[in-house]
Amino acid sequence: MTGTEVAVPRIVILGAGYAGIDAYKALARRLGSRLRRGEVQVTVVNPDPYHTFHGWTGEVLSGRLPLSAALTPLAPLFRWARVVLGHAAHVDLVARTVTVQAADGQTRTLPYDQLLIGTGSADPFARVPGLREHGWKLKNTRDMQLFRDHLHGWLSGRATAPEPGRILVVGGGFAGVEMAAAICELVDARRVAVETELYTSAPHLLEALRPHQSRLADHAAGELGRLGVKVRTGAGVREITPRGVVLSSGEVQEFGLVLYTAGVSYDVLLGTEALQRDERGRLVVEDDLRLPGHPEVWAAGDTARVPLPRDRRELCPANALWAMKQGMCVGNNMAAALKGQPGRPFAYGGLGQAASLRVGGGVAELKGLPLTGWTGWLMRLGFFVWYMPTKEGGVRVLRAWAGSLSGRRHLGAVPEPRTEATGGAELSRS
Ligand SMILES: Cc1cc2nc3c(=O)[nH]c(=O)nc-3n(C[C@H](O)[C@H](O)[C@H](O)COP(=O)(O)OP(=O)(O)OC[C@H]3O[C@@H](n4cnc5c(N)ncnc54)[C@H](O)[C@@H]3O)c2cc1C
Repeated sequence: MTGTEVAVPRIVILGAGYAGIDAYKALARRLGSRLRRGEVQVTVVNPDPYHTFHGWTGEVLSGRLPLSAALTPLAPLFRWARVVLGHAAHVDLVARTVTVQAADGQTRTLPYDQLLIGTGSADPFARVPGLREHGWKLKNTRDMQLFRDHLHGWLSGRATAPEPGRILVVGGGFAGVEMAAAICELVDARRVAVETELYTSAPHLLEALRPHQSRLADHAAGELGRLGVKVRTGAGVREITPRGVVLSSGEVQEFGLVLYTAGVSYDVLLGTEALQRDERGRLVVEDDLRLPGHPEVWAAGDTARVPLPRDRRELCPANALWAMKQGMCVGNNMAAALKGQPGRPFAYGGLGQAASLRVGGGVAELKGLPLTGWTGWLMRLGFFVWYMPTKEGGVRVLRAWAGSLSGRRHLGAVPEPRTEATGGAELSRS
């Protein structure tokens, strides 16, 4: 750089999930023309060229929605950013660089002035033997796609099977309950003899709802029972094997498919081992979501341990809306830092939560108000459509829902987009 050149501030966002996307949107709102003129450089690193809207996973599994309805291409979303497809492999907190293992097999080094770690959570492979090899997962786009395709194929193969098959969903939280209901719906639609079962180590389904909304949790359990899902509580899965599962008690149960939704772990990026984490591995953050001792590094979403603003003894729930709001807070604070202004503490009050168990049925809680049946179901639909990364995506989902409600099902014959990064490691803006 010569004496007259002004250094362009460089922002690197790791992870194009809910937190990363909303951080970028906030930056684009606050920095507008500076981003367009290249006076601030934003680089986003993500393994896949798509964002997956996890909220529609159940609908994609049941064939109600095509996989494409849950996917948003990243290139138009990050219009004024450089998108590098790959995994951040190492962070040098002193030199302020990120080393990326890019999708084209090359290694790239990205210098940063500000860094957001928004890499979410991971499947708990170390804690659950056999999960990687024999269990089905939904955390990332490719796993969800693989499971969807395999499930549809597996059910087709069972049409003439002499004995009923068994599918197990492990986990009694929101994801487990929704996935069990969706699989049950698909099994009914395919008219195959398959039993859908759900095991949870907890004494009840939806434990997270119980402290404030125990009747909603009971309602969901009742709906699941009516759908035909066999629920077993107090049944912790210790290991997944090629033929089924081993429970904590040592009991062995055979299943044709095992889908794991019970808990997550947190990957530690090489070079960040010394950063402060809680006992579960989440990054500890300050009120404004900076990392203590590293004012140029921020964390948001599932990977961050963020105290609940209205009661700091509790933590923010790990879900999409909280990740989006935290990402937005980081984007605003990064922009403020560039302008030499102070950042603001994370101050979001929450909205609620919802689970769909069938069309027109499920449970929802909106600012403490319990909702069931069509009201809860429509509220969930409306919020999810609203919170899709793009309005076009929301419209696409509504169209797909209209098709579904008039009888259309996506049972695996329709070609779906492949989500692997192909043809290079950077997305073009066009
Ligand atoms: C099946 C399922 C259903 C769910 N349903 C709901 C729901 O209905 N409602 C709800 O609110 N929440 C739901 N959730 C939870 C919600 O998806 C998460 O809380 C949310 O994704 C967290 O957002 P995030 O931005 O922190 O992480 P993510 O959305 O997971 O994004 C992290 C991104 O970082 C990328 N990444 C990871 N490691 C690296 C690396 N080393 N380098 C670069 N990139 C990396 C990942 O590929 C990913 O794209 C569901 C989750 C699952 C799995």
